[in-house]
Amino acid sequence: KTHYEVVIVGGGTAGITVAARLRRAKNPPEVAIIEPSTKHYYQPLWTLVGAGVFPPEASVRDEADYIPPGATWIQDRVVALDPDNDRVQTAGGRTIEYDYLVLAPGIQLDWDKIPGLKESLGKYGVTSNYAYELAPYTWQVMQQLKPGDRALFTQPSTPVKCGGAPQKIMYLTADHLRRRGILDQVEIHFFTPGVVIFGIPEFARTLEKVIERYGIQVHFRHELAEVRGPQQEAVFHLKDEQGNVLEERVHRFNMLHAVPPQSAPDFIKHSKVANAEGWVDVDKYTLQHVRYPNIFALGDAAGTPNAKTGAAVRKQAPVVVHNLLQLREHGALVNPKHYNGYSSCPLVTGYGKLVLAEFDYDNRPMPSFPFDTTKERYSMYLLKKYVLPWLYWNLMLRGKA
Ligand code: FAD
Repeated sequence: KTHYEVVIVGGGTAGITVAARLRRAKNPPEVAIIEPSTKHYYQPLWTLVGAGVFPPEASVRDEADYIPPGATWIQDRVVALDPDNDRVQTAGGRTIEYDYLVLAPGIQLDWDKIPGLKESLGKYGVTSNYAYELAPYTWQVMQQLKPGDRALFTQPSTPVKCGGAPQKIMYLTADHLRRRGILDQVEIHFFTPGVVIFGIPEFARTLEKVIERYGIQVHFRHELAEVRGPQQEAVFHLKDEQGNVLEERVHRFNMLHAVPPQSAPDFIKHSKVANAEGWVDVDKYTLQHVRYPNIFALGDAAGTPNAKTGAAVRKQAPVVVHNLLQLREHGALVNPKHYNGYSSCPLVTGYGKLVLAEFDYDNRPMPSFPFDTTKERYSMYLLKKYVLPWLYWNLMLRGKA
């Protein structure tokens, strides 16, 4: 079979949630999901895996168990889009045609963009929670830190998924050292290309206090430029507002948690559906493509200016499903649903401490709870550790929440 009514590219958070909701709709459309991986990952758990709270296996399940009833799984990878002819090309040499296309391939990790990084990963104390295989190494390296050591944490200048993740593991490392009684004997440094610790002042104030409490040194306008693994040295570029390099600075490390530069998947970038930055060019409210009305996108690959998180996907998926079904029924979006940019970032600030940042396109706080969420709370830590994973596997991926 080479034609499906709805084709979904990517069976991650966004792809499966949309597929499940479409299949649960009245008069459900025929759905095919193109996804190469046999595994499905709950990536938000990787922060806690890196901190030794969970084993990595707790974040992974079989993809097959989450393909909704009635949907077809095409285990292949899309390599090219042909939106003028309503078809996609796969690595396995197949051409799949569609009436409606949902693009949900996530974000691409560009490890190669930093010389020396890829070769050093998993060795010399160089790690990253952005890869399933490496998160356990973060925990290993963290435990090996000893007095006199230096732990460095970096954030790239590109958009990243979960903007808080580069910091969360730093706070957990600091708290781990505090518990071992050596926090004041290990240097902790955070390097960010930005000039603020967090984009929303209400939450930035809380984080500034956390940074002070742990004695973390923050370096603004710094970007990781090279990793010299065997020497355990990281090279940083200090940049001006225009992004020009002013100075090169070399820091010795015993632990380096690096977050790779990230961009839209290459097959999106190189296709006609991309905007100038490479993301899928969709309307930020309806999530419908601005030039190809039968194409929708959501999740990390979508060209919407929200913070890229699974929490955002939870609010985007019902919008995509509603609007796609409207188009199918009426040939136009007669009564469209709108996504308001909601995103949420559970900022873990220590073992048992979490600040739940929730906000919209205008960076307006959008708290789901009737108390001050800009404060560190144990209850919100429990939400992240137990409630959200349960919600993800049992409700969200089943199209029920
Ligand atoms: P993904 O879930 O990444 O899925 C993309 C899928 O597309 C993958 O299965 C991939 O195999 C597939 N794919 C890729 N290329 C192709 C292709 N060419 N053809 C077919 N399929 C393809 N979010 C939160 O809400 N809260 C958090 O606390 C949080 N913490 C995080 C911590 C870390 C360390 C990381 C890495 C992420 C975190 N996130 C968090 C972000 C969250 O995981 C993502 O935003 C979310 O998974 C995005 O969903 P997606 O479907 O767009 O992408």
